Formats: sequence, structure tokens, C-alpha cells
Amino acid sequence: MGLEEEMKETSESVYPGKQIAVIEEFLPGSGTYVSDNGFVRSVETGVLTKNLKSRKVSVAPRKRVDLPRIGDEVMGVVISLSGVFGNVTIESVNGVPYKGAKGVLYPTRRVRKNERQFDPGDFIVGVIESDINRTYHVSIRDGRHGVILGACQQCGAKLGRKRGPRPVLRCGRCGEERMAEISGLYGRLP
Ligand SMILES: [Zn+2]
Repeated sequence: MGLEEEMKETSESVYPGKQIAVIEEFLPGSGTYVSDNGFVRSVETGVLTKNLKSRKVSVAPRKRVDLPRIGDEVMGVVISLSGVFGNVTIESVNGVPYKGAKGVLYPTRRVRKNERQFDPGDFIVGVIESDINRTYHVSIRDGRHGVILGACQQCGAKLGRKRGPRPVLRCGRCGEERMAEISGLYGRLP
């Protein structure tokens, strides 16, 4: 029992440059470095381990399966539309950067004619529903999902969220507004 308590492994995900501790608290172990002002930071994307006995922190690269799986939460970018569907490139899987996969994004059932839930350039979060025909079919299932950062269709700037009874995305540069299926995590890219 003692060993488990000493080797306190957290499930916290860290990314390059992330501040983990200060040098007075923990020594830098593998996968970490010390920056200005004595901050211990992560070298890479991985899982943080704090050893309370040796007062050392380390970061191990996160092991993951080769391919995204059904049920994985993905973040991606809409590159084009095919009718009400979005063609997306997947940028991360369960918060871990992942390159080279493409998918199709489905609107929620609430979609109406002429209603657009996402547009090209938007960053979206969704869940892989299936991988039939070697395509990742991504759905918007709950409040975390949807557009997490929108792109202005007029000028290309990033859109802000304008609150209200029916929130919309608004361009601070050109004033363009549009509706979207907005994620509850809007503005916080994973
Ligand atoms: Zn604009």
C-alpha cells in the first residue's frame, strides 16, 4: 500500500509548456524542464506523475491506440459542407493531438431547412458514432459538443459568442452574425 501512496500518479493531461509545479515543491523529472522563475513545465503532451516521496514530477507520453475508436470525443475543423453535413479533419482525440484522420459531421436532429449548425473553418467537438466505410461519423450529442470556435464567413476572423435568449456567433471585426450549434465549451479549445 505504501508504494501506491508514494507514487501518486495523477490522470492529469499536460501539454508542452504547461506549468506543473514550482521548483521549491518538486524536482524536474523526465519529460519536464525548468523555466524562468523556477517553474517546472512539461516538455510534451502526456500524463503527469507526481512522486511525493522523491518530490519529483515527470511526464510520460500518453499511450494511445493507433486509430480513433467509436465513442471517442474528437475535436476537428470543418473544411467544407456537403448539404447539411460537414467534412472535417480530426485534430485531436480525447484531448490528445491526432493528425491524419477525416470524418463527416452530422447536425443534430433539430436541424431545419436553411439552418446551418456549422460552417467551413469552424472548430467543432463531437463523438465518433461509427466508422463504417472507413469514415469517422461524428455526431453532436450533448452540450459539450458543437462549434467550439467559429470562423467568420465574411472576413475569416474568429467569432465571439453573443449571449442572449438565442446565442449567436458574432464577428468583432466586420459585425457579421450567424447562428450555430454552439458548444458549452465555446472559446476553450481542448
Ligand atoms: Zn468578419
